[in-house]
Amino acid sequence: MPVYKAPLRDMKFLLNEVFDYPKHYESLASGENATPDIVDAILAECGKFCEEVLSPLYQSGDEEGCKLENGEVTTPAGYKEAYHQYMMGGWQGLSAPEEYGGQGLPASMGLLKQEMMGTANWSFSMYPGLSLGAMNTIYLHGSEAQKQTYLVPLTEGRWGGTMCLTEPQCGTDLGQVKTKAEPQGDGSYRITGTKIFISSGEHDLTENIVHIVLARLPDAPKGTRGISLFIVPKFLPDADGGVGERNGVSCGSLEKKMGIKASATCVMNFDGATGYLIGPENQGLECMFTFMNTARIGTAIQGVGPAELSYQWALDYARERRSMRALSGKKEPEQVADAIIHHADVRRMLLTQKAVAEGGRAMLYYAARLADHMVEAHTRGDDKKAEAYDDKLGFLTPILKGFLTELGYECTNLGMQVFGGHGYIREHGMEQIVRDTRIATLYEGTTGIQALDLLGRKVLLMTQGGAVREFTLKIANFARKHLTDKRLRPYAVELLKLTAQWNLLTVRVMLAARKDRDVVSSAANDFLMYSGYVTMAYMWLRQSAVAVDKLDNGGEDSEEFYQAKLATTEFYFERLLPRAQAHATSMLSPTRSLMQLDSDHMAFTG
Ligand SMILES: Cc1cc2nc3c(=O)[nH]c(=O)nc-3n(C[C@H](O)[C@H](O)[C@H](O)COP(=O)(O)OP(=O)(O)OC[C@H]3O[C@@H](n4cnc5c(N)ncnc54)[C@H](O)[C@@H]3O)c2cc1C
Repeated sequence: MPVYKAPLRDMKFLLNEVFDYPKHYESLASGENATPDIVDAILAECGKFCEEVLSPLYQSGDEEGCKLENGEVTTPAGYKEAYHQYMMGGWQGLSAPEEYGGQGLPASMGLLKQEMMGTANWSFSMYPGLSLGAMNTIYLHGSEAQKQTYLVPLTEGRWGGTMCLTEPQCGTDLGQVKTKAEPQGDGSYRITGTKIFISSGEHDLTENIVHIVLARLPDAPKGTRGISLFIVPKFLPDADGGVGERNGVSCGSLEKKMGIKASATCVMNFDGATGYLIGPENQGLECMFTFMNTARIGTAIQGVGPAELSYQWALDYARERRSMRALSGKKEPEQVADAIIHHADVRRMLLTQKAVAEGGRAMLYYAARLADHMVEAHTRGDDKKAEAYDDKLGFLTPILKGFLTELGYECTNLGMQVFGGHGYIREHGMEQIVRDTRIATLYEGTTGIQALDLLGRKVLLMTQGGAVREFTLKIANFARKHLTDKRLRPYAVELLKLTAQWNLLTVRVMLAARKDRDVVSSAANDFLMYSGYVTMAYMWLRQSAVAVDKLDNGGEDSEEFYQAKLATTEFYFERLLPRAQAHATSMLSPTRSLMQLDSDHMAFTG
């Protein structure tokens, strides 16, 4: 079974040459310690941990899975030791505030860590990932006392965290949450209910688990306006902040699922557990989603990471597996047959993976800069600026999450295809990447919900197309600057056409939606995918513009590296970007073909 290799060259190209992170970090208070040397050292150290510790546990964790016995969950062999190393390395607190024990580095540094860890072993990365969700929520909405009690052990990684939203009757529509929270008269609440699908709900990696739970107060208004947020620890903290009495929360069962088997997905029973309100009463959902964009970029990693991993392994295989001769003539006459990498159709699959992994990574790093600015403004108490950055991110996050996870999943299937029948056999690991990645388009908001959020909320309702106008203006300004170089001109021209089309499509959907309310839902998925293809095209133009400059003037990497960027840009524009036009056509089609068939006539059985 192959292992993961951290793609440090590509990461550094994006960080240093495309997005000028060194200068970006200089402009941030949290960037004071993120000097190029330190960033390099952190990337190298994290890459080593992922390659040497997490990657070797990838397949064994899948084979063994998690086990539940007497209410206790055991993670697969090696996970506890790996988590201990992770904790001792101080990785959980990399981007956490210094006053609660973190290293105070910019949010984007945390994202780079998440990318490498998630690519090497997504299941493992879920445990610290969920803790991060709990940490962010407590940091943003907790009282000072709550921060002191919970943030320090969470930041150190001694305690883990979860996000308990989903119940049997609802995942998307959280207005249906039934879990009850009754005041106990001492400032705490009795939490009763069942949550399902809770990642890291119970495990043996940390000494305590802090659940962030959505529940309803007595007489709370119906729907989303009546939901509050609570901290419910597995063990109640004692007077010294240590682990005290066991709380009334337990794991009822582990979900048997398609992939990410080393990540414990739990049914959690709250049987009159003691909980503490976090944030204002009945504003739990608002609290949950405030500044969640930063966290959501994290889930977009599950598009880029698997595309990268599957590409790395497929590429190695395609260089070695031999089958027939290349159509243009023998490439390796001394061999019995040519390596499959010489066949155009295999190259189509590999280059799709490469274009998505590297183009998607660029999308993540582009957004991560905005996240840094947003966090910085929030820390300084500049709420207006923080909100402005959050709005910019808010437009991009559904595109990143929805589009990248859909394409990432496609790429894992292509990786399996490159292996032929061997891709379907467990030993090579390719089918595991497919299974592990399938969840990415479902949790943290399905693709359909991301698409509705983008088109319905962010584009039409909140900005009447303004978000698209603002972003396309940025793209168009960039494209215009590159019209004169003949190596870049075709891409710049294409992007200019697309920015105009994106605005036109937005207006046409908006007008159609005024006459027919189903239009938003019927157009949303195509709008999201269209937006993703254009955004990725912008990222490829940005990369090729740097490559051209470095080829002319010299850069940090080799000539071959920059030539490969130009070749991949050409592939992307010629072979993947045309898909945007199919989405444009489909998005404007009348809703009739979707809505005319009576629900009872969808199938005729019996
Ligand atoms: C492995 C795993 C881990 C998870 N981890 C967690 C966790 O840690 N914490 C947690 O709280 N939850 C977790 N979840 C739950 C996950 O977030 C939900 O499953 C997800 O949000 C979808 O909710 P649902 O399953 O209820 O689907 P539903 O909401 O029932 O949706 C079903 C389908 O209907 C579509 N749909 C729904 N409403 C609309 C609409 N208005 N318009 C158009 N289409 C619509 C959806 O897009 C989807 O295709 C996890 C789930 C899994 C499988």
